[in-house]
Amino acid sequence: MHAEIVMIGTELLLGEIVDTNAARLAKGLRSIGLDLLYKTTVGDNEARITQVLNLALERSDVVITSGGLGPTVDDITRQAVANATGRKLVYSTQLERQIAARFRSFGREMADNNKRQAYIPQGAIPLRNPVGTAPCFLSEDVAGRGFIISLPGVPRELQYMLDNVVLPLLVERMGGKKVMKVRVLRTCAVGESNVDRAIGDLMTAANPTVGLAAHPGHTDVRITAKANTEAEADALIAPLEAELRARLGVAIYGEGEETVPGVVGQMLAERGLKLGVVDTLTGGELAQELRQAGFGDLLSADLQPDQWAVDSPAERAALLQSVTPPGGVGLALFGPFENNETEIIVTGINGTQQTFPGRRFKDSDYVRRWFVVQGLDWLRRTLLGQLASPADWN
Ligand code: ATP
Ligand code: MG
Repeated sequence: MHAEIVMIGTELLLGEIVDTNAARLAKGLRSIGLDLLYKTTVGDNEARITQVLNLALERSDVVITSGGLGPTVDDITRQAVANATGRKLVYSTQLERQIAARFRSFGREMADNNKRQAYIPQGAIPLRNPVGTAPCFLSEDVAGRGFIISLPGVPRELQYMLDNVVLPLLVERMGGKKVMKVRVLRTCAVGESNVDRAIGDLMTAANPTVGLAAHPGHTDVRITAKANTEAEADALIAPLEAELRARLGVAIYGEGEETVPGVVGQMLAERGLKLGVVDTLTGGELAQELRQAGFGDLLSADLQPDQWAVDSPAERAALLQSVTPPGGVGLALFGPFENNETEIIVTGINGTQQTFPGRRFKDSDYVRRWFVVQGLDWLRRTLLGQLASPADWN
């Protein structure tokens, strides 16, 4: 079973009001594991709304509309839903009584145009709306293509109806809530396109799905499984996760919310290692990130020398040597040299220095962030003794 939403209102279409209802609906559907496949926005025009609803019924089982249920002439959702589901619009005296009662409850008489709201598609199930006057309803398509649920546009009313009426109703029709489980494997320093190349063929599966999200210096691999129970979702994820781990290997530095500075800091802490840093590239961001991750006490030095002090390879080696604590490790980000070239040097626990090429430097947030991640990643790989990347990642 899958759903789509149809947002109705000319103001909405023209961008005069921001569509917060769509996000509310999407979030609600997600919470019960009902897949949302399309969202359409359409103005207050009977023919166009009818057309959109017809298309929606063709391709989705559940269609939810928002807006256009008010008492005014431009509130035509009722008529359009009747058209699309192949039903007549009929007057419900029961709804009229409900609307009148609601007006009486705050001491007012029901206006004549409110009677418009007592019309619903023939055979539709009224959904009681205790927070507003617009009656909501569920109308089954006579041709059996699915059903449409119509909700008011007023966000507070929509949210109430969604939480208290619509989601429970949908869970029942789905035969129980589905569990949506997400697992995020975090890779760094290999680039989105390389990750894509390594695992692209696994990204076409329907359940679990695998998707990528790129950030400066790191790429998240997101596995999403849908199932009846948590255990079932775990069982779906496990073999896929194993395959992803086998293919991506050391490129995966962590999972969930873990960060590169956090993971590297943790490795240093577990091994009781202090770290000396020389950094001419990030303006201190490297050390700052380690401090923010809670590992400031492991920093034995954070040297940010002037460019002239690091002119020759020998000077660079000596400078990193000088900040590397006895028995500890060192990390240097050097440059920009001629042509904005850069150099990353790591001193491992055996005291050996190893130099890695950096990308060309540019003074931007993105590039500085990239060097922080890349430098820490070479340190991480040095500590793991896994410097080699799969050959096709270069
Ligand atoms: P009413 O009975 O108030 O007329 P309705 O069901 O006809 O309700 P609309 O007239 O479409 O709903 O919208 C009522 C108000 O709700 C709009 O003026 C707007 O402020 C807000 N609204 C409508 N649709 C949305 C939306 N998608 N996102 C956020 N706010 C919305
Ligand atoms: Mg209205």
